[in-house]
Amino acid sequence: MSERGLCPRNRGGRYTRLRLALSAVSLTRNRFACGRGGYPRPSGVGAPPSEKGSGMRELDRVAELIVRAERPVVFTGAGVSTESGIPDFRSPGGIWGRFDPDEFTYQNFIGTEEGRRKYWQLGRQLYAVVRNARPNAAHYAIAELHRLGKLDCCITQNIDNLHQKAGLPPEKVIELHGNATRARCLTCERPYSRDEIQEWLESGVSIPACTSCAGIIKPNTILFGEAMPARETLEAESRAKSSDLFVVVGSSLVVSPAAMMPLHAKRAGAKLVIVNLAETPHDPYADVLIQDKAGPVMAEIVNRVKSRLAGSRSVP
Ligand code: NAD
Repeated sequence: MSERGLCPRNRGGRYTRLRLALSAVSLTRNRFACGRGGYPRPSGVGAPPSEKGSGMRELDRVAELIVRAERPVVFTGAGVSTESGIPDFRSPGGIWGRFDPDEFTYQNFIGTEEGRRKYWQLGRQLYAVVRNARPNAAHYAIAELHRLGKLDCCITQNIDNLHQKAGLPPEKVIELHGNATRARCLTCERPYSRDEIQEWLESGVSIPACTSCAGIIKPNTILFGEAMPARETLEAESRAKSSDLFVVVGSSLVVSPAAMMPLHAKRAGAKLVIVNLAETPHDPYADVLIQDKAGPVMAEIVNRVKSRLAGSRSVP
């Protein structure tokens, strides 16, 4: 089943077929393993989002929801960083258009030298981009929400460290898929900075090995098929369930269990906002859906939040 097929449009029975396929997948999937698709859905799916667009009305509505929220959570994916020059996975020209995701699994990395060689070839190219990337307007807007007291936490699937670079305190960022700036030996746990490993790769090493014990070095990021970090996953689930507003920014919402987070929030009664260029499988649940670029949209929303907060403070 292709990942494109994971985007349900509830027309002509296609969604029913999709649901059957998805429930078969979800039966076999470990709740804490990182994978594509395969999550159960709440019943009663298919209603159009209550508001859709990227006009003034939707921006105002999201700003109002943020001002009213007591525990707003932002959830980000690779799409929040494309305006910083880091390609996402699934957009046209994205990473999976050029590389086969099935080759970059945890099992291939651990199990074969060839798997590690291919991984590091791709890793060398991507890390060069990630290391030099600067936060964009969306990262700064999310950090500003924190300064305004309007962010419970930011749950991110990203490994690029850009939320922290934008000024969001590390304790406010829950990294579901790890962080690419660090690496470690899987045998003796010796930590390495990813910058050091990059120097080795650029000087001709094709498969880095631990200098203490010759063990396998792996970046602190989660590969497909690898167990999710339990503490972060449980923390993210708990924050999603206790949020009263859940704002998705730049995610295709097809990688589980991360993609479950908006559903946890929605089931627990939170309002759901999705800001994403392309359609996502969760669009039918959104209270506000904005299909536009994250940077300008988030910056505009935060401007409106600030005006509202300033207005309410100036009232005697
Ligand atoms: P994805 O590639 O599956 O989806 C990205 C989504 O963002 C797409 O639906 C696309 O339409 C949207 N998008 C792209 N540019 C946008 C923009 N400027 N504004 C708004 N939306 C935009 O990525 P994902 O959902 O995050 O899931 C895939 C996995 O990719 C995650 O596990 C993550 O770890 C990994 N990843 C991370 C990075 C990063 O750290 N920057 C980069 C690539 C992949």
